[in-house]
Amino acid sequence: MNFTFDTVPNLIFETGAANRLGEIIKERMQRPCVVTDKGVINAGLIDDALASLKKAGLDYHLFDGVEADPPAKVVRGAVEAARQHGSDGVIGFGGGSSMDTAKVIAVLLKSQQSLEEIYGTDTVRGDRAPLVLLPTTAGTGSEVTNISIITSDDDLKMGIVAPQLYADLAILDASLTLSMPRHVTSATGIDAMVHAIEAFTNKLYKNPISDALATKALSLLSQNIQRACDEPGDTSAREAMLLGALLAGQAFTNSPCAAVHAMAYPLGVHFHVPHGLANSLMLAPVLRHNMPVAEKLYAELGPVIGASHSANDFLDTMLSICAGTGVKNRLSDVGVSHNVLPKLAEDAIKVERLMRCNPREVTYDDALRLYTEVL
Ligand SMILES: [Zn+2]
Repeated sequence: MNFTFDTVPNLIFETGAANRLGEIIKERMQRPCVVTDKGVINAGLIDDALASLKKAGLDYHLFDGVEADPPAKVVRGAVEAARQHGSDGVIGFGGGSSMDTAKVIAVLLKSQQSLEEIYGTDTVRGDRAPLVLLPTTAGTGSEVTNISIITSDDDLKMGIVAPQLYADLAILDASLTLSMPRHVTSATGIDAMVHAIEAFTNKLYKNPISDALATKALSLLSQNIQRACDEPGDTSAREAMLLGALLAGQAFTNSPCAAVHAMAYPLGVHFHVPHGLANSLMLAPVLRHNMPVAEKLYAELGPVIGASHSANDFLDTMLSICAGTGVKNRLSDVGVSHNVLPKLAEDAIKVERLMRCNPREVTYDDALRLYTEVL
């Protein structure tokens, strides 16, 4: 029963809270670097938050150059700009890429270490700058995790895992998620459900707190994903999705993800498939592969998503919830062809950090078979 559990020290869950961002954070930083992407800017999502920073007398620097799967050179450029501005804190405002970038900027802003020196687990030394995160999607859970994923100069997805990556404060404002298009709502929502399932079935780090969080997360997400897709302006469905993604994030940062995520990574690297979609593509084959050893746990999760106490019923219900959102379900839909599957399988089994957490071993042959199943 021994376990450890960490999460961010402060959370504000309040629809509309982004409008008073300045007032909320003014005791933490005076010259924030605001980290976001062009999509957030163009959707006008951040306007009120920026106005509130001004109103609170905070001299902010806006970095809106975040890209999906943040490249190392973008991160280094952002750190340089924040230094020149004299930033004394970092606000990440956006999806997983913006939040992951913000975390790393907050570390490097106060550090002599280079980005390359902090790749890996527990390699960050010393303190970081104050860090506040606001998610605009309901999926990644990055606002409460100690992980950043950065794309290295050699085009590899590098994980940075360190306690310094936990933010000081996460602000969850469901109004920021209202304008997400259907395909993003479904893919990010399914990603959050995968976080919950993989945390609950983790072979090495499964623990009672992650279990409780994952179960509640899966219940909220499975009950609300269809409504959030069909009625995007429904604030209560959006709140439930955001809360579910948050709880799943707290669960998996302590009981990490496994083979679904490991097999999704190469799809992101080689085909730029968005993280959430890549995970939803790999969910069905990995659940089937794990069934012989995870049957009891899947059966426990059945009633959580409205199925019976049967592992098979859990699997069928889960897949029909996903299908109901209209998410793509074949690798060929995202441009993957037969001849690259060996390369994908080779890369997937190298994601040792996640694969070792999977309830059942995934060999190269297994990986190849699982990709083939959903081609
Ligand atoms: Zn994920």
